[in-house]
Amino acid sequence: MRELLKIIFSVHKCVSCREILGGADFDRAFCADCREVYLASKMSICPECSLEAEKCRCMPPMLKKNKVKALRKLFFYSKEKGGEPQNRLIYFIKKNMSRRVIRDVAKELKPLITGELARGELKGKPVLISVPRSRRALFEYGFDQSALLARELSELCDIEYLPLLKSRGIRAQKKLTAGERMKNVRGRLIVDQKEAERIKGRAVILLDDVVTTGASMSACARALLELGALEILGVAISSDIKT
Ligand SMILES: [Zn+2]
Ligand SMILES: [Zn+2]
Repeated sequence: MRELLKIIFSVHKCVSCREILGGADFDRAFCADCREVYLASKMSICPECSLEAEKCRCMPPMLKKNKVKALRKLFFYSKEKGGEPQNRLIYFIKKNMSRRVIRDVAKELKPLITGELARGELKGKPVLISVPRSRRALFEYGFDQSALLARELSELCDIEYLPLLKSRGIRAQKKLTAGERMKNVRGRLIVDQKEAERIKGRAVILLDDVVTTGASMSACARALLELGALEILGVAISSDIKT
């Protein structure tokens, strides 16, 4: 009974302004006003290729060095814009486990992935893998947001999701250089050896929430290529284009 009441009285709030959502917005991440600001932020142009975020395939040099094919993203992340809806979306999904918000983001990411597939960009039968959340954050929040997103996308795009990578305890990344970061992540990746066989000769769609230096994604990409993956396409909700 208590569970039932909880469902009846559950309210959905905008991830940015916390306004209670209703009507057509009930199952969305943003209220109408915040979504407008969010959509406008998606129009900002990549300084490298002059395309808007959803069309840009650019990536931090480190990802290129580690043979990632391209990085697709929904919008560009900028720390200076901390209070804006797009950044609040990122903070929200790091701290809250919300199927509604994850699904809304997954719906936006779907065309980026199906577009790559339609263009014949990915060889071999693709598989979805997520960059694992650090053990410490996993312990603190109790869930892995990129894994949740990967599961949702797996359903939406009908692509197999393999929970292949996990993270051991990890040193704080903040004070490390990009190279040190990658080593730090790399040394702490745990690969499910039983599942590893299944990525041989297949393209991997490697998913993360935010890509900044690209160290975490690079470490995962390198490990997956060594395990026999054919190629890696990076997909993130957001990426920092200045790095
Ligand atoms: Zn709002
Ligand atoms: Zn670009």
